[in-house]
Amino acid sequence: MTTVSAPTPLDQHRRLVTAIPGPRSLELTARRAAVVAAGVSSTLPVYVARAGGAILQDVDGNQLVDLGSGIAVTSVGASAPEVVAAVSAQVADFTHTCFMVSPYEEYVQLCEVLARLTPGTHEKRSVLVNSGAEAVENAVKIARRATGRDAIVVLDHAYHGRTNLTMAMTARAMPYKTGFGPFAGEVYRVPASYPLRDGGLTGEQAAARAIDVAQRQVGADRIAAIVVEPILGEGGFVVPAAGFLPALAAWARDNGIVFVADEVQTGFARTGALFACEHEGVVPDLVALAKGIGGGLPLGAVTGRADLMDAVHAGGLGGTYGGNPVACAAALAATALYERDDLAGAARAIESRVKARLQAVAADVPAIAEVRGRGAMLAVELVRPGTLEPDKEAAATVARTCLAAGVLVLTCGTWGNVVRLLPPLVIEQELLDDALDVLEQALRALAA
Ligand code: PMP
Repeated sequence: MTTVSAPTPLDQHRRLVTAIPGPRSLELTARRAAVVAAGVSSTLPVYVARAGGAILQDVDGNQLVDLGSGIAVTSVGASAPEVVAAVSAQVADFTHTCFMVSPYEEYVQLCEVLARLTPGTHEKRSVLVNSGAEAVENAVKIARRATGRDAIVVLDHAYHGRTNLTMAMTARAMPYKTGFGPFAGEVYRVPASYPLRDGGLTGEQAAARAIDVAQRQVGADRIAAIVVEPILGEGGFVVPAAGFLPALAAWARDNGIVFVADEVQTGFARTGALFACEHEGVVPDLVALAKGIGGGLPLGAVTGRADLMDAVHAGGLGGTYGGNPVACAAALAATALYERDDLAGAARAIESRVKARLQAVAADVPAIAEVRGRGAMLAVELVRPGTLEPDKEAAATVARTCLAAGVLVLTCGTWGNVVRLLPPLVIEQELLDDALDVLEQALRALAA
């Protein structure tokens, strides 16, 4: 039995001891240019040495506040002690066998947890994979096999991944698709609900607009699945108007179309409910999961209706690493924390704190068109004052200003003009307030 000594926890304070980036990070940036593909870019110009809770410590000893959680992954905090312990214990037992060759309990146990936690009380099955894109791909495979239909309907502003099929499903060309075609066929895009830019459409009206396009351009009887992010993620943290998701789900049900919720970014307490579909009482047929599920280790899953999942022939789903035992151990620890520590409640507390703060700023800064989001998935959309014209440069400036002060914020949005916040759900109030001071100053500077 191997024992692993626990590292000293990182104190939860922002601290800059060099310029950002510091000398060691600059050295690594130079080395990187010689060996790392230029197509892989990084938001942060500093290199991480350690991470804990909501703090990233860089190779120069700076401590940055992490308001990105590795893109909504370390929701339980970076290196959560329970996850570290579970992973360490599993690594000591065995690291890999391949579930398709010689199975193990952790895979089964995690599928039991997913059946219990995901929306709906119906009988469910799961398949475990390695990433969000792989989860979405598998949801499409399952929907096609179960329905015998080919067509897949997706939303404008959608992001579903970078594999060939999920690139086709993703809306934005640059940087995700440009030059990478031809793309997988039988993917059809319909308008989303984007309240800020919809001229007052209700959720039901936005759904009717989407359904009309799908019916005219594809035909309901040809559609295997409609794949929907309950809150658009990379597309700009756009919360659809109330009624949009239920109307799409009802149409899918009435037409034998599989309703797939891509909860890769919204899942696991991020939006103040365990899954974002719950805010509108929508029970998806299949749900694609990843990111927060693994507490920092790579894992994805599709969980859904037993009749659909089991329509796939034996051997039709899987992969060498899918449901790797170390990733499963991490996920079992992380999913227990979402429940034990009511991290959905923590996300709601973050929402009220951050929204109150940012709405007050928005009243003084005309470049802020909207403060939006749910739970700890929050954003400000930036425009040229007095218009809805997206201002990508303003978002980049805010992110850059925050970084220089030691606060990591990400941007997103179809036009790149949205500043988004995805703090670990365990972030301490004092640290969050400190980071918000920095963000507030950066936003107010837009009005100066
Ligand atoms: N779906 C959604 C909604 C996502 O936000 C992402 C990742 N940003 C993906 C799919 C793809 O996940 P991965 O990067 O793990 O393949």
